[in-house]
Amino acid sequence: MSLDIDYYELLEVERTADEKTLKTAYRRLAMECHPDRNPGCDKSEAKFKAINEAYDVLKDPQKRAAYDRFGKAAFENGGMGNGGARGGAGFGDFSDIFESFFGDAFGGGRQRGPVRGADLRYDLEISLEDAFHGRATEIAIDVAAKCGDCDGTGAKPGTSTRGCNLCGGHGKVRAQQGFFVVERTCPTCHGRGEVIEDPCRKCSGEGRVDERQKIEVNIPPGVDEGTRIRIAGKGEAGPNGAPAGDLYIFMHIARHKVFERDGTTLFCRAPISFTKAALGGEIEIPGPDGSKHSVNIPEGIQSGKQLRVRGAGMPVLQGRGRGDLVIQIDVETPTRLTARQKELLCEFRETETGEECPQSRGFFDKVKEFWDDLTE
Ligand SMILES: [Zn+2]
Ligand SMILES: [Zn+2]
Repeated sequence: MSLDIDYYELLEVERTADEKTLKTAYRRLAMECHPDRNPGCDKSEAKFKAINEAYDVLKDPQKRAAYDRFGKAAFENGGMGNGGARGGAGFGDFSDIFESFFGDAFGGGRQRGPVRGADLRYDLEISLEDAFHGRATEIAIDVAAKCGDCDGTGAKPGTSTRGCNLCGGHGKVRAQQGFFVVERTCPTCHGRGEVIEDPCRKCSGEGRVDERQKIEVNIPPGVDEGTRIRIAGKGEAGPNGAPAGDLYIFMHIARHKVFERDGTTLFCRAPISFTKAALGGEIEIPGPDGSKHSVNIPEGIQSGKQLRVRGAGMPVLQGRGRGDLVIQIDVETPTRLTARQKELLCEFRETETGEECPQSRGFFDKVKEFWDDLTE
C-alpha cells in the first residue's frame, strides 16, 4: 500500500483541484487499475486501494483541509484524527473508507470472487473466399488448462484442502499501520484461503497444467481484417479451479489477387480494349463466390471510370445483404498491331485530322498511281 505517496500526486491533480477535477481523475484512475480489470496484479490492486484512500480524504472538505495542514499525520496515531478528536474535529468515522477499500472482503464473504484465468489471443488468417462464405475450422493452442487429475483443486485426488488458519479462509490478513488498517495477501495460503496438504502430482498443486487444446472456431460470413471472435471459457484456466478466461480469435484476411476490400465493398480493375471503350459492349466479372456478373460497358467510357454492381460485394457480418462490387475500367492501348490494323487506324486518324496518312491504303494507292504514271 502506497501510504507515503502524496494524495494529490496519487490522483495526478493540482493541489488546487476542485471537486469535479478530483472526481474525474479518481474515476479515470480507478477504472484503470480496478482489480477486475487487472486480475492477479498486486501492483494495480495496491494502487487501486491507495487512490481510494486518497479520494476518500480529498473529497471531504474537512478531511482535505486537515490533510493540507498536517499531511497524513492528521490521520495517524497521536495526530488530530486520533481519539477525542474524532467526530469533534470533524474527521468522522473512517469505517466508510475501509468498507470502500476492502469491499466485502471482511463483510462475511470470502474474497471478491475467484480470479479468472487470463484471456488469450490467437491470430488467424483466412482467404477472402473463406471470409465470404464463412467456415468452420479447428485451431490448436497451448494453454494452461484445468488439471484433470485434481479437477483444478490442486489437491492430490482423494485428499482435500483445509481452510487456512492464519487468515481464516479470507485469503487476506489485516495489519495496523498508523491509523490505517492495511490489508495484505495471506502469506500462508497466498490468497487462496485454503491450504493444500498433499498437492496433486500432475499439476504440483497449481490446479492447472499446460495442454495443447483443439478448439472449433466457427467463422461467420463477412468477417473482416481485425474482426474478433470471442470463444468464452477457452482462455487460460483460472488458478485453483477458478473459471477460465476467454479466447479471442483476431481475424486477418489474406491479400487477394483480384479483389481489394473496404468493409463490405469489393474493388477490382477490369482491363478493356480501346475499341470496347469506344463502341461499348459487355464484360464478365467473376465474383468472390465464383459467380459471374455481366457488366454493361456504355459507349465512350473513359479509363478510370467506376461501375458499380449492387449486392455483389461481401456479405454483411451478422446481418443481411451484401455490399457492392465496384469495377474500375482500365482502357488498354494496343501494343502489337498487325499491318492491316495499322492501316485501318491510319484511315481512322485521317477522318479525325483530315491529313493524309502515309500508312493508310488511300495514301499507298496514290503513291502507286504516281509511280505507275512515271513508268508508263
Ligand atoms: Zn492437479
Ligand atoms: Zn491464508
